[in-house]
Amino acid sequence: TDAYLSKIEGASALNAYVRVEGDKAREAAKASDDRRAKGEAGPLEGVPLGIKDLFCTKGIPSTAASRILEGFTPPYESTVTSNLLRDGAVFLGKLNMDEFAMGSSNETSAFGPVINPWRKSGSNATHIGADGKVEGGLTPGGSSGGSSSAVAAHLCAAATATDTGGSIRQPASLTATVGVKPTYGRCSRWGIVAFASSLDQAGPIARDVRDAAIMLRSMAGHDPKDSTSIDRPVPDYEAALGQGVKGLKVGVPKEYRLDGMPSEIEALWQQGIDWMRDAGAEVVEISLPLTKYALPVYYIVAPAEASSNLARYDGVKYGLRVEDPDIQTMYAKTRAAGFGQEVQRRILIGTYVLSAGYYDAYYLRAQKVRKKIADEMNEAFGSVDLMLTPSTPSAAFGLGEKSSDPVEMYLNDVFTVTANLAGIPGVSVPAGIDAQGLPLGLQLLGRPFDEETLLRGAKAIE
Ligand code: GLN
Repeated sequence: TDAYLSKIEGASALNAYVRVEGDKAREAAKASDDRRAKGEAGPLEGVPLGIKDLFCTKGIPSTAASRILEGFTPPYESTVTSNLLRDGAVFLGKLNMDEFAMGSSNETSAFGPVINPWRKSGSNATHIGADGKVEGGLTPGGSSGGSSSAVAAHLCAAATATDTGGSIRQPASLTATVGVKPTYGRCSRWGIVAFASSLDQAGPIARDVRDAAIMLRSMAGHDPKDSTSIDRPVPDYEAALGQGVKGLKVGVPKEYRLDGMPSEIEALWQQGIDWMRDAGAEVVEISLPLTKYALPVYYIVAPAEASSNLARYDGVKYGLRVEDPDIQTMYAKTRAAGFGQEVQRRILIGTYVLSAGYYDAYYLRAQKVRKKIADEMNEAFGSVDLMLTPSTPSAAFGLGEKSSDPVEMYLNDVFTVTANLAGIPGVSVPAGIDAQGLPLGLQLLGRPFDEETLLRGAKAIE
């Protein structure tokens, strides 16, 4: 814990943490030592973790990287973080993220962007300019960019993260870390600030597949406080890793081969296919014709749910209030000051697609297509055990490079959103380095609640 705390201090330019809880962490580490001495060590005893600031942590401010939650300290602990504490974990602090988990580059955070510890080979070290801004930095992805950057830079042993459309897998891919988005319902959403409730899932970002497997086992489990959490036993994922992939059937969906995809990503994908074959899996081409609708459907469904979830931030119940004698004006002023630009954009899109007159044309239609996408995916899993695709359409890009064009930013999620729409589990595993020395990840998708096979596949790529 001490080693990580001093490392965090030295790496403050990465802006990975929004809050470090040094004293609490040292105290927890001491309590952990005591338990160990008494022979009562849990599976994560004394392991120092970083927690994405979307998770409510009792007595520790939790902001979702938004100004609107300024001053909010939850009087309760999220179920996932409670599970980690139960197993002996030590929390180092709260990790930066895109505001309300909306973004793919960590640039929408009220605390400023996070820097990826990776940089292009031959480029100057990232440095802080005279104006205090970091120059020459690459994004660690988003929205869990604090989690991915912190794990990659060894500022924690592992981190919690959340994935609504790719926010665990995309940042993992851009930082050479392992990110698991479990099946919808595998981890409780209770106490996690809601973005799009039918898509949100918590999961780990870790340095390797084994660590991710160990983390997931602690995080997962049924919770009566989340009616969408599923009552199924949580397997020993770590134990499953030894089983290999011999005899498994892996599908390669041809629709993921995008026009203009960088040849390095193509090559990486082929490499992944070869690795799977070498490890004894059978690889077959499959077709998922509805893939092209996933991104547009996601960018209707997610903002719709977000606009509803964010209605609760009204200057009364939580955090920020901009005073005004008229309550309607107070409400409007608070929301105008508290929400950043991207969040306001999502609220506008969401409110529009849900409004009378447009509901049938957009929201209802998107829901129908979502169902078809999920059906198509589940049908394909009738004949394959796993699917293999790239995690992202490109390696890490420069901060500021895509932030002025929302659609270009949304395209980062093209390979990841389908898993959320279908509720299936996915993982991103580091698989290679591009010509500029930047990491690239491969994604595996699995059957609902079959994270064991998913992680066995990930192990074969690692
Ligand atoms: N990048 C996607 C979005 O902005 C996904 C975010 C997420 O998974 N939380 O909505």
